[in-house]
Amino acid sequence: MVKISRKIRTDILVVGSGLSGIKVSKELADQQHHVLLATKMKVASGSSFYPLKASLGTQVSKDKKDEQTFLSDIEDLSRGMHRQDLAEVYVQEIPERVKEYKDIGVNAKKLEGERKACFAPHSRDIYLLSDWDQIRENVREIFSQYDHLAIMEKTVVITLIKKEQRIVGALLLDEKNELVLVECKAAILATGGFGSIYKHNLNPNDVDGSGHILALEAGASLVNMEFIQFIPGITTPRYKTLFGEHTLMYCHDIVGENGESLLDSFLPEGLSKKECLEIRSTHGPFTHSLESKYFDIAMMKQIISSRSEKGFQLLYDEKLYENQEEFYTVYLNWLKEKNVHLIENEIRITPFAHASNGGVYIDIYGRTGVEGLYAIGELSCNIEGANRLGGNSTGACMVFGKRAAVHCGEYVRGIGVHEISEDEGHAHLEKLFGANGKMKRITASVSDSELKRIEEQAHHIIDKIKEVMWYYGNVVRTEKQLTQALQEISSLELQMDVRLFFQQPASRRLAIKAKNFIKLSQILLQAMLERKESRGAHYREDHPHEDPAFEQRLFVSESQTGTMQFTFLNQ
Ligand SMILES: Cc1cc2nc3c(=O)[nH]c(=O)nc-3n(C[C@H](O)[C@H](O)[C@H](O)COP(=O)(O)OP(=O)(O)OC[C@H]3O[C@@H](n4cnc5c(N)ncnc54)[C@H](O)[C@@H]3O)c2cc1C
Repeated sequence: MVKISRKIRTDILVVGSGLSGIKVSKELADQQHHVLLATKMKVASGSSFYPLKASLGTQVSKDKKDEQTFLSDIEDLSRGMHRQDLAEVYVQEIPERVKEYKDIGVNAKKLEGERKACFAPHSRDIYLLSDWDQIRENVREIFSQYDHLAIMEKTVVITLIKKEQRIVGALLLDEKNELVLVECKAAILATGGFGSIYKHNLNPNDVDGSGHILALEAGASLVNMEFIQFIPGITTPRYKTLFGEHTLMYCHDIVGENGESLLDSFLPEGLSKKECLEIRSTHGPFTHSLESKYFDIAMMKQIISSRSEKGFQLLYDEKLYENQEEFYTVYLNWLKEKNVHLIENEIRITPFAHASNGGVYIDIYGRTGVEGLYAIGELSCNIEGANRLGGNSTGACMVFGKRAAVHCGEYVRGIGVHEISEDEGHAHLEKLFGANGKMKRITASVSDSELKRIEEQAHHIIDKIKEVMWYYGNVVRTEKQLTQALQEISSLELQMDVRLFFQQPASRRLAIKAKNFIKLSQILLQAMLERKESRGAHYREDHPHEDPAFEQRLFVSESQTGTMQFTFLNQ
């Protein structure tokens, strides 16, 4: 029997320590609640503090008048897929929230003048966040002042426990891979997106969608999952480095292996290469909504046919380094520190998985519909739709981090902690890691060579899923490829003996990741199949137009028997 090593009691369990987890924890600690912050890696991690990017921007409404314009910008870009109430809250509250960055140790510097954020038709104030190591130090220092705020690093939350229809606890795997039972009054998930389910992605490995599965299994719904963003990232000279799309203003071509222009055969009549590149320089992620789409489609079509992942070379004009705007100099100097020069080096790019526009369905307080369960940050459906305006995700961490803290703080005042027995904990584990009767019970310890084989098998499954997702759930999607991908995932599922993986402490994390990846990849691929049209970040080569018949959001939920349900709704 797998052993539960200890029990912890707290008021609120916060899962994740990106911007949203840090914000909500600090707010709750200020309200004098007992908080346990569990995070997969170290404090100040996730996409918020991804080391291979120079800075993060937050877009802020200029004034009351701009709130309406900002709302219209979000609405237009979302292609009907966003939630108006969440967007309204955002544009109203972000000017106040941005002032609170300093309270969580984040130095947010306002860019000189106004700038148009990615995809934004109007310019407004942008605050730049940077210096991840300093922020981490600051957060540690700030958190150390609260003796009722405990932190568990290198800890994975593997399941939430419900009683009488409300969240009462969770099971965690701590840094020694031992199981810990947590009793709590509420849980706030702040686990970020799921980019690392793709082979090439611009996320750290801890951003793997495990929070989506936790929420789904607890009874929450997911929405807009098909709208995951892909963004060009650098493959050469420094793999996985963030690419500044604004530099495309100075790019005159993108070429393949033999120097042939990639765009020549893709551009429709009336759209020049220069025009395509200029439009492409205004937004990071791919979108079907703009004529620049041919840039990304050309890359992905070539990748699918050649199965080459080397990337495509960009040819730049030397004038690039003469631009003295802060937005350019900050990025180009940061690249220089990484020994990357856009003219002196051969620069290759490819589509990388970036950020997810969809996620857990929430209300304006981050409530999920499951009592005592909140979801904030990129994990939640947030204010985005089929496209996402740049600089709104960081801001949403602050806005909904604050709102969830206020609501949850009130909620826990009125209730007590439920006692959870070890047997109940074990019952949960059995359900998660021993369900199918086909899996055998392992009681004896296994040899080193057997353990190595188990680990290799788990790695193989995880790597295969990432590869399948990158080729078939990327910028160019078709029914044929998505169906084939689902079949490949099913055959990987059959190879996986999750009980065996979980039984051994050393392979427990891999077991959880493999189990979650199987489920998440099936959800994503199925959602991409269901939306038989092209809209924003979702492009179906076999349904290349936006179709009014699909002007509804796609919800995913799990039935009592574990079957996934996909439903288009006007919510
Ligand atoms: C390269 C890049 C550039 C970006 N640029 C911008 C920008 O300029 N402006 C903007 O607004 N947005 C930008 N974004 C998006 C933005 O950074 C993220 O949406 C936001 O930072 C997410 O914050 P978060 O707190 O929700 O999640 P994250 O920062 O991703 O944090 C997630 C946390 O959850 C933890 N975790 C996950 N699962 C578990 C688990 N099961 N148990 C315990 N812990 C868990 C992780 O370890 C991590 O600590 C960018 C994203 C990327 C990748």
